[in-house]
Amino acid sequence: MLLLKPNCECCDRDLPPEADARICSFECTFCAACADTRLQGICPNCGGGLVTRPVRPTAALARFPASQDRVVRSAPCPS
Ligand SMILES: [Zn+2]
Ligand SMILES: [Zn+2]
Repeated sequence: MLLLKPNCECCDRDLPPEADARICSFECTFCAACADTRLQGICPNCGGGLVTRPVRPTAALARFPASQDRVVRSAPCPS
């Protein structure tokens, strides 16, 4: 199941399940602003492409809630 992480790994802004977020195949998660401008659509952790994170419907979120474990990169993102 896709892990819906609660924040951007670059700027640490909140990314609730309905947010416009970007993910790579490893579920590294970024906000749209970081992904599209700072990262140019490439995950800085694995080098893979970032795509729009699908929104999990509210009814499904009740049974399969989003992750609450915040993940932030140890190294700063390219700027
Ligand atoms: Zn961000
Ligand atoms: Zn990645």
